[in-house]
Amino acid sequence: MHTDPAQQSTAGAGRYAPSPSGDLHLGNLRTAVLAWLFARSTGRRFLMRIEDLDRVRPGAAERQLADLAAIGLDWDGPVVRQSERLPRYTAAIDQLTAAGRTYECFCTRREIQQAATAPHGPMGAYPGTCRTLTAEARARHLADGRPAALRLRADTTDFEIIDELHGRYRGAVDDLVLRRGDGLPAYNLAVVVDDAAQGVDQVVRGDDLLPSTPRQAYLATLLGLPVPHYAHVPLALNPAGQRLAKRDGAVTLADRLALGNTPEQVMAVLADSLGYIASSPAQLLHQFDPARLPREPWIVRENGLLRPDAGP
Ligand code: GLU
Repeated sequence: MHTDPAQQSTAGAGRYAPSPSGDLHLGNLRTAVLAWLFARSTGRRFLMRIEDLDRVRPGAAERQLADLAAIGLDWDGPVVRQSERLPRYTAAIDQLTAAGRTYECFCTRREIQQAATAPHGPMGAYPGTCRTLTAEARARHLADGRPAALRLRADTTDFEIIDELHGRYRGAVDDLVLRRGDGLPAYNLAVVVDDAAQGVDQVVRGDDLLPSTPRQAYLATLLGLPVPHYAHVPLALNPAGQRLAKRDGAVTLADRLALGNTPEQVMAVLADSLGYIASSPAQLLHQFDPARLPREPWIVRENGLLRPDAGP
């Protein structure tokens, strides 16, 4: 990607979009560094977006931003918060509704789990129970006071995307939720609307989100929005193979600083996990080659992390 001169001069942007549910751990910081490297190495702007439609812990967004800055990342323009952009999501949902592309869904989570997967549909896909609800049934649900979610009326069961690390990837599309029962826009809708509105044409994020990506690309297409370039990067795991989490020890920047590490040392650990020697993102940028990125998860052994007296 970085060797393509056409992409060097792109006016596009990459981004990092954390959910402010707690402190970023080393795996999150590593993904942020990678998103920054992919953007900066291709001449893109790098944007920061706080995805605060749910799971908000007070003060977490501020600490996340401070940690990202402390390890040397910078970003362009003001930080965007999804909670301040609700009218945009409503407009996109209205556009789909006007095109006959939505329907109300009164199913509870439990009912969906109990229902069989849609015939010919992907495993775990919404079975379409409310797709053809009669006016009487709808009125009955409303009278019962059941909150309605709004779903997409999808006309396909799968969609293909191209990913820088995973190549062609075909994945499930179902009648995904656009607006939740509590009235808030769903993540899949908000992320698509925001990336397009912000001019984001490069999405770099953890590969746990790869399975959601065909849905998002399909949704973008329905909304007449461009589909971004994607790079889904390996996650950080603990030695048991589970996603890295707070319980895994001193795995946040604050934890490492409390143990005596410097931000540069933490950055060096992240660089090392990517196969580079560097103690700042700027040093890493000179060497960055996406083709050399590890394709396997990063196993974080808390005891094996840099000790305060160990350099760089
Ligand atoms: N907010 C999401 C998360 O923290 C990331 C969404 C994205 O990068 O598209 O997991």
